Amino acid sequence: SQPRPFNFSAGPATLPEEVLQQAADEMLDWQGSGMGVMEMSHRGREFISIYEQAVGDLRELLQVPANFRILFMQGGGLGENAIVPLNLSRGGKVDAVITGSWSTKSTNEAKRYADVHVAASNLADRHRSLPPASSWQLRDGASYVHVCSNETIDGVEFHELPDLKALGSAAPLVIDFSSHVLSRPVDWSRVGLAFGGAQKNIGPAGLTIVVVREDLLGHALPSCPSAFDYKIVADADSMFNTPPTYSIYIAGLVFQWLKKFEYAGKSGLAAIEQRNIDKAALLYAALDSSQFYENRVAANCRSRMNVPFYLRDERLNDAFLTGAKARGLLQLKGHKSVGGMRASIYNALPLEGVQALCTYLKDFEAQNG
Ligand code: PMP
Repeated sequence: SQPRPFNFSAGPATLPEEVLQQAADEMLDWQGSGMGVMEMSHRGREFISIYEQAVGDLRELLQVPANFRILFMQGGGLGENAIVPLNLSRGGKVDAVITGSWSTKSTNEAKRYADVHVAASNLADRHRSLPPASSWQLRDGASYVHVCSNETIDGVEFHELPDLKALGSAAPLVIDFSSHVLSRPVDWSRVGLAFGGAQKNIGPAGLTIVVVREDLLGHALPSCPSAFDYKIVADADSMFNTPPTYSIYIAGLVFQWLKKFEYAGKSGLAAIEQRNIDKAALLYAALDSSQFYENRVAANCRSRMNVPFYLRDERLNDAFLTGAKARGLLQLKGHKSVGGMRASIYNALPLEGVQALCTYLKDFEAQNG
């Protein structure tokens, strides 16, 4: 069969071909059960085994410590923007660091539930750099500090998470890791809670991952819906309500794929991280070496996952996208709020996809430069 095109969508996004193939093979009959996964009770033996394997594999891949719970929820990243303050703020103070579109949204939503203070912002810099942690104006008694560890639209990534303790803050750090979860390890010693939608690096939309330190459970505001109360969800092993079963199944297949992944003499998460480093280096080098394209993010915080770039002559944008599509390079259009182009190069996008994009960048420049 024809090779599939390379898909640079920011999410929902490309998935490993092996995973899609396995899901197709098992669509009508999961492992001799006579049922497809979508048709199974979430309380049945078959689905419970899928769920337990998925949670265990995620814990292993991300090296989640024993005092953290892994919750499979619904509501996406935007849902968590409300669910986090409902559970953690106790109606009190929340500090937020603004580094791009998604942390701005989180900050605004949290204002509906808590006293929110912007501890630092890169808005004056048009979200193209990270305010150094030493400059953050953190408050005593904040219930948590929110950051978006990878800004999907602006292409800004924390390559090291802030150490709030070292900054004199006792507050837990909350990270929105939607768009780089499983692309690199997480330093859990610096994190109280991490959340992310699955539809970028993990699987289908509909599943939201929450990894939360146990001492943060059980403090939800009375107005918090039961289905969004972390303690209730944790006590019910994510089965208080019907979880997004099919999304969990696909996520589980992706976790298995990641565990077996090998690259450059490494395996598992270390291997995918190395390939992500190599892919990003290749693409940024291609952009930086040209006068025709530009990426505007400061070098120390460029995202390994989402690479926004601009043609210096924006009149060529449509021709660029049409030519890309003709070569099997799909969904390169930038987010409407910032324009230009964006290549999302998540875990499942192979190195060959980035190589093909770099070749296209050169060829398009040669024809139009
Ligand atoms: N946070 C980040 C970092 C995101 O990239 C996105 C989606 N692009 C969201 C939150 C919102 O996620 P959802 O649409 O699942 O609510």
